Amino acid sequence: MKVDLVTIFPDFFRGPLDYGILRRARETGLVEIKVHDLREFARDKHRSVDDRPFGGGEGMVLKPEPIFECIEKLNVAPREERVAGSTKQTVILLSAQGRRLDQALAQELAALERIVLICGRYEGVDERVSEHLADREISIGDYVLSGGELGAAVIVDSVVRLIPGAVGNEASTKQESFTAQPGTESADKPGDPPSSTCVSGGLLDYPHYTRPAEFRGMAVPEVLVNGNHDEIRRWRRRTALEKTLRNRPDLLDPATLSEEDRKLLAQITGKNT
Ligand code: SAH
Repeated sequence: MKVDLVTIFPDFFRGPLDYGILRRARETGLVEIKVHDLREFARDKHRSVDDRPFGGGEGMVLKPEPIFECIEKLNVAPREERVAGSTKQTVILLSAQGRRLDQALAQELAALERIVLICGRYEGVDERVSEHLADREISIGDYVLSGGELGAAVIVDSVVRLIPGAVGNEASTKQESFTAQPGTESADKPGDPPSSTCVSGGLLDYPHYTRPAEFRGMAVPEVLVNGNHDEIRRWRRRTALEKTLRNRPDLLDPATLSEEDRKLLAQITGKNT
């Protein structure tokens, strides 16, 4: 996969892309990331990339010309092809007004061959960039950041780790929080040893523990050390359901829950379904 980051602060990306899975993916050539300095595409002698907003109001707005010229130099597929999905490329504008990033969107992006991310600053970016240059706007959450760079780093991280081969144990990215797997609400079947992370089926991940079994008087749940695979599997599913109910009830869709899940949920809430 090729990733291009367009920013007025290229040095911002020293760090976020240099550790762990991302670093390894870059070193092994799974992903090639290039950072482009928007100021290099500014025409005037002050290298200005922003200007005052038409209609008045606070702050400055990123000008369209440097952004258009930068993207044109990257030789991406035409916008119509990107919008139609006939090419595996996308040009994304980071924006608080965009579609909110979630695991399903990260998976969609991980199947692409090229991702270009335009980072806004100040009051935002001239709207012609979103209307005529980018093919989508993505937000990383319902809050306002001071720039798109952190958002771009979040997208790159969440996407690159889903590229096959990026994570040592590929099964683990199929079995973590939010990862819906239609028809397989749990990959760990009764009798099988539970995998390190049971399939979340769109729920939050279950709690993890490691050695020591007792730490400052805090013991690891007994079920995890007794080695009964079926009990461990049920415990993990129940605690994942509990945590989801407590922290993210919006993720609990009764239609996708299995009979076993519904029973566990009834036990947790003390109700009969
Ligand atoms: N005036 C805008 C906010 C501009 S913040 C508004 O009210 O919507 C400056 C830049 O930060 C934006 O252009 C965008 O690139 C980035 N940004 C801010 N919040 C973001 C978010 N939640 N997700 C992704 N990018 C964001």
